[in-house]
Amino acid sequence: MLDKLLIGSHVAMNRPKYFLGSVEEALSYGATTFMFYTGAPQNSFRVPLEQCKIDEGRALMKEKGMDETKIIVHAPYIINLASAKEETFEMSVRVLTNELIRTAAFGAKTLVLHPGSHVGAGLDFGIERIAKGLDLALDAVDNDVTIALETMAGKGSEVGSRFEELAEIIKRSKHQERLGVCLDTCHMSDSGYDISSIDALMEEFDRIIGVERIKCLHINDSKNMRGARKDRHANIGYGEIGYDILNKYVHYELFKDVSKILETPYIDDLAPYKQEISMFKNGYVEHWMDEFKK
Ligand code: ZN
Ligand code: FE
Ligand code: FE
Repeated sequence: MLDKLLIGSHVAMNRPKYFLGSVEEALSYGATTFMFYTGAPQNSFRVPLEQCKIDEGRALMKEKGMDETKIIVHAPYIINLASAKEETFEMSVRVLTNELIRTAAFGAKTLVLHPGSHVGAGLDFGIERIAKGLDLALDAVDNDVTIALETMAGKGSEVGSRFEELAEIIKRSKHQERLGVCLDTCHMSDSGYDISSIDALMEEFDRIIGVERIKCLHINDSKNMRGARKDRHANIGYGEIGYDILNKYVHYELFKDVSKILETPYIDDLAPYKQEISMFKNGYVEHWMDEFKK
């Protein structure tokens, strides 16, 4: 049986092993959960589910004691529900609808989504449009998948960098019970939140949205100072947030049953996740990155 800390990273889903390969990759990092895209993050091409080796992956998870209800699917970046362009909005609803169906097919319950960018149409327009788009997709698919809106860095015209914006999207949807939030530590810091005082931040979040909506955490260090609105993830301990603060999020009692997912950068084409996960389980290692440079 795997130990209880729910932590993993994003993993690939590639030919020929597809989902079975995703589970194997996660296990190779010592992870107890993981996040994946059901196809390329940048486009809507999707390999048919029958080819994805889903049964094999689920069987391996079961054998290793991984709870499949805790794994996370990330929706592709091309979705922009805040777009004022009709074709973009319609494509986004169509792709999101398909991802809702695909997420359930893997046994997953949580689909992380970037709310969208209004591209100059205005924040209120964006919020209204996102709520509408979510409802169209959720109307079309009746399953038990929750869409977790990610807290954004506030780069460009991104909607969702303030808790109030996410609260407003949820409020305007008629499917509130199927909406949640994914907290990203890099994004929250970039958008200006002081993430070092976790209790105060979670009190604020609870007042505005409600902590019961938290369905996923993205644990990333940030290359930039608080408020930079850049969205550049850094490896754990090599950014402006630092290991100690991130470690608090990983072990915070409130997030005990919530999957913590690393989306930190590769180092010279090598995944850092085994080392980063190990540091959250066993304590910080100084200069851990040095072993990649050999
Ligand atoms: Zn994301
Ligand atoms: Fe993220
Ligand atoms: Fe990011």
